[in-house]
Amino acid sequence: MKKIILKAGKEKSLLRRHPWIYSGAIGRVEGNPSDGDTVQIYTNQNVFLAHAAYHSKAPIAARVWSWQQDERIDEMFFYRKLTQALALRKDLGLSQFSTGCRLVHGESDGLPGLVIDQYDRALVIQIGSVGAERWREVILDILKNLCNPTCIYERSDTEVRELEGLTKRTGVLWGGLPHDLIIKEYGLHFAVDVVRGQKTGFYLDQRDNRAKIGTLAKDKEVLNCFCYSGGFSVYAKQGGAKSLLSVDSSEDALKLAQHNFALNGLATDSQEWQCADVFQMLRKLRDQNRKFDLIILDPPKFAPTASFAAKAARGYKDINLLAFKLLRSGGILATYSCSGGISSDLFQKIVAGAALDAGVSAHIIDQQMAAPDHPILLSFPEGAYLKGLLLRVTD
Ligand code: SAH
Repeated sequence: MKKIILKAGKEKSLLRRHPWIYSGAIGRVEGNPSDGDTVQIYTNQNVFLAHAAYHSKAPIAARVWSWQQDERIDEMFFYRKLTQALALRKDLGLSQFSTGCRLVHGESDGLPGLVIDQYDRALVIQIGSVGAERWREVILDILKNLCNPTCIYERSDTEVRELEGLTKRTGVLWGGLPHDLIIKEYGLHFAVDVVRGQKTGFYLDQRDNRAKIGTLAKDKEVLNCFCYSGGFSVYAKQGGAKSLLSVDSSEDALKLAQHNFALNGLATDSQEWQCADVFQMLRKLRDQNRKFDLIILDPPKFAPTASFAAKAARGYKDINLLAFKLLRSGGILATYSCSGGISSDLFQKIVAGAALDAGVSAHIIDQQMAAPDHPILLSFPEGAYLKGLLLRVTD
């Protein structure tokens, strides 16, 4: 039997059903498992804890598949897990509002290292662990069966693959990629570039937060920083924004954003698009004495893990401080962090520090998170990576 025996006392997090076993917790490995093999995890008192996928060299040395001793990790296991994940999304009734949906959200769906996004009839699969990689063919077969997709595209090109010793892999795995892949979200249309776009092509996690911005934008002068394919901008314009300045450092993203405006038949008057670094742009706007009524800050991940937290905190403080200074009294700041290494408490403290330094008062009018197709497993708080604060700012 392939078995991992933990050091004494290192079983605590597993007893709370946290699904990661760090290499430092391992006392002994038996049965010579290869990377990706399923192993059984035991306490040093020989009590069964879990079935997990093993990795001999990664910092996370095992990722739990199951807590049930009698469960077999085989084709049927993956069939059950994928069926459960799909059932959760179906119960949300999401398909009435959006043809884009996260079907599988890694650890939160009990499938560590596996992300599957649906864009209309196309599926995008992203594999970030050696365990999920081992079951790739099985997972693909089940997906064809359960979802009947017209295309399965692989976007296994995240940095985490390197930690797992995996090379990047992208391309069509099944069917053909539609020339124009478009999803409909709350009645709005968005083109999704699954080949060159960010993540798997679209930020599905911000769906409900974008919609909220739409309801607040009427007659406002809006600044959307890190706009990517224009999600928040499209909702703001649809919601009646008086003017809109959208900023991103990627030319491709801005092209896609403008395409999305056209797709929705939105007027392009009173709109500025700036291909620029947001840190510099905010300073420029301050120096020009520009003012806004609604600012969105949705930066990329500054801190993938807690070890980057200090540097990331400086980045968040900087942009939030500048944004506070650009807001008129009574204005709204929608500020986000998608850094796994920054807790929501810490994020709130950073933003509070920025408000203090900017000399403004701010009230939280909404605390936001990822849309419900990105569920958070209670025993895996890392799943709560997206944190948002909607703030009303006064002098
Ligand atoms: N709000 C978007 C998602 C933003 S993703 C949505 O709802 O779809 C983060 C974006 O920040 C990416 O498009 C990336 O190109 C951009 N970006 C990263 N660093 C940047 C910088 N320093 N200045 C401007 N844009 C940046």
